[in-house]
Amino acid sequence: MIKKCFKCNVTLESSISSDEDQELDEPTLNSIAFISHGNYGSTIFDPMDGSYLEIYVCDQCLVNFKNKVYHITRNPPIEQEPSIQTLSDYLDS
Ligand SMILES: [Zn+2]
Repeated sequence: MIKKCFKCNVTLESSISSDEDQELDEPTLNSIAFISHGNYGSTIFDPMDGSYLEIYVCDQCLVNFKNKVYHITRNPPIEQEPSIQTLSDYLDS
């Protein structure tokens, strides 16, 4: 499978092989994989069967839209309210 950035469509290289046809679990260079098992409020995807969606976003798109990306930190105990900041704040700290 050829992996591309969800936002800008750039082809993402594998971090472990030069083969363009990558395996699903093969990490990509200069990008992050995002996985969602759905959302109760979605009218498109909320299967509750363990299946999930996966998209890739290149590092440059993350930086370009860093004010729309949230960085969330949870410190034990888990019951505490999570700390939420934008990726922009995280990169600047
Ligand atoms: Zn991109």
